[in-house]
Amino acid sequence: MAKQKTGTETKEFQAEVKKLLDIVIHSLYTERDIFIRELISNAADALEKFRHQSLLEEKVFDSHVPLEITIDVDAENHTLTIADTGIGMTREELEANLGTIAHSGSNTFLAELAEAAKNDVSLIGQFGVGFYSVFMAGKRVRVLTRSYRPDAEGYEWASDGSGSYTLTPEEGLRRGTRIIVELKDDAHEFANEDKIKQVIKQYSNFAPFPILVKGEKVNTVQALWKRSKKEIKEEEYTEFYRFIGNAFDDPRFRLHFTADAPLAINAILFVPGENIERLGFGRTKPGVNLYCQKVLIEQHSENILPEWLRFLKGIVDSEDLPLNISRQALQDSALVAKLRQVLTKRFLKFLAEQAKEDAAKYDKFFTEFGIYLKEGATMDFAYRDEIAGLLRFESSKSETGSLTSLADYVERMADGQEEIYYINGPSRPAAEAGPYVEAFRKRDIEIIFTLEPIDDFVMSHLGEFDGKKLVSADRADLDLSTIKSQDAAGEKEAEAALEPEVATSLTAWIKKTLGERVKEVIVSKRLVDSPAIIVNPDGYMTSTMERVMQAARLEKGEQLPSVGGKNLEINSGHPLIRQLSILRGTDEAFAGDVIEQVFDNALIQAGLMVDPRRMVERSYKILERATKK
Ligand code: ADP
Ligand code: MG
Repeated sequence: MAKQKTGTETKEFQAEVKKLLDIVIHSLYTERDIFIRELISNAADALEKFRHQSLLEEKVFDSHVPLEITIDVDAENHTLTIADTGIGMTREELEANLGTIAHSGSNTFLAELAEAAKNDVSLIGQFGVGFYSVFMAGKRVRVLTRSYRPDAEGYEWASDGSGSYTLTPEEGLRRGTRIIVELKDDAHEFANEDKIKQVIKQYSNFAPFPILVKGEKVNTVQALWKRSKKEIKEEEYTEFYRFIGNAFDDPRFRLHFTADAPLAINAILFVPGENIERLGFGRTKPGVNLYCQKVLIEQHSENILPEWLRFLKGIVDSEDLPLNISRQALQDSALVAKLRQVLTKRFLKFLAEQAKEDAAKYDKFFTEFGIYLKEGATMDFAYRDEIAGLLRFESSKSETGSLTSLADYVERMADGQEEIYYINGPSRPAAEAGPYVEAFRKRDIEIIFTLEPIDDFVMSHLGEFDGKKLVSADRADLDLSTIKSQDAAGEKEAEAALEPEVATSLTAWIKKTLGERVKEVIVSKRLVDSPAIIVNPDGYMTSTMERVMQAARLEKGEQLPSVGGKNLEINSGHPLIRQLSILRGTDEAFAGDVIEQVFDNALIQAGLMVDPRRMVERSYKILERATKK
């Protein structure tokens, strides 16, 4: 054991780091190779940061030292050393970076990670476990580092991965970071030169700085995006994607494009195979890096693409950007804004092309990543039309599980149909069975099923598509009568319906009974099989949107607001409604219970919330009476 040097201080890891290390040391046995990738990617990041910083600052330490990563193995002593001449770390940075979890050290994160670790080690990279993965293979790790700042001091950080680490001032270090890994007894293979070379080839071939193993360069270095597209092999793109995206999967789509006007752009954008956010691991950070003449300006740039395209990975290189642009300037720069616009348009156009080329593949993409486009539709007015064209939904004319575009819907519209109709439901069977679809089915008019709550916000933001209004089927003023369609059975109900005066008296009584909870009670022209339906007179908010707001209020602990301002439509041809009209004269109190129940049922079918306690009590009362001899 190394004896304590003078000036050594022992520090406890942050509690979250201890938990993380526990997972790393005790749960991750497979694919240990990835720790090398993590260390090399940190070294490359540090070099990128230094390269950019040296353009911004007048004085840097060791300015003449070449930018490279050096790897040494010592098979006799079972150590692996990875050194870089990058930005280095000050004491404070050491403590913050290698003593805490900077990004997302929450307990849920750790619980999820522990769960993931059991199944799929490949998620590690995405989680940013990063540096700590070194303890998969190292029994003791030393980090010797000296910041590029001229007046900084050098330090040694050392730990065996249990509760604490030490910090010791260290004289005579060159700029950068040297990590010495004392390998565990079962990890001696990482002190083998061939093994290391193989791992580098596999994971880090596209590191943008030379990686030297025992003095020999083993990686490609060259910036992939500067090469001619024709020469780049598919595997190279995939390797590159994995390197920059810290990913293990295959990219789903790839767009490599170059432009000279209006801006000089060289970009490679990847859609990943997996949507990590969908797996429940919080918001992903943006994955596209911004370069200028091959110098990394901003990693995981928040400026180069809109937030809703955060799932993309890749690089953008533009020679038009000033090399010494600062972070603040990136946010304010009109040039960057222009760049963002050009890239966004280009990417959306690319998606449209993909959809045309291979609809099935595109639909799969949409199922996995469509949520981001929907987010874009509600947030970014500028790309409304492009995004609308990319949306896909199920509809009454699509098979279950297969998708249709708004453009295809328009193609199929019936004679005299001017609007595009949709209805929200928690699932397709639920939407199909609900009362809103009856009139459409009867008249053979296509209706889109919006199966996610966000969909109605999307539709209402879009407002229209191709000059046709997007209309929710729960609108009060829905009028399908002008549409020419197979409408044969229409007259039957009308015959059986209540006399107009009886119906008027009944609707007035229902309005009185339900009071403020409904705006109007009217005889429905659309219902076929259901006794009643809730519709929205204002025509802007759909019931689903209202439910989303209800849920938000409930979450904040506020009272469930009563739903006012909606219309109740009744089906005067339905036996229940006709019998209710009679019951009203013989037992008004009980008739009151029945209409309350009908109203609650209609609310539920509209996806709105009702007070379950009152509703259950009432339904027992009704059942009791129904079962009485
Ligand atoms: P990430 O790379 O995702 O930020 P890591 O756990 O891999 O997470 O690294 C944590 C931080 O430690 C890095 O963000 C960086 O600031 C610092 N760091 C790690 N390795 C180096 C290195 N070789 N040189 C300089 N800083 C480093
Ligand atoms: Mg890292």
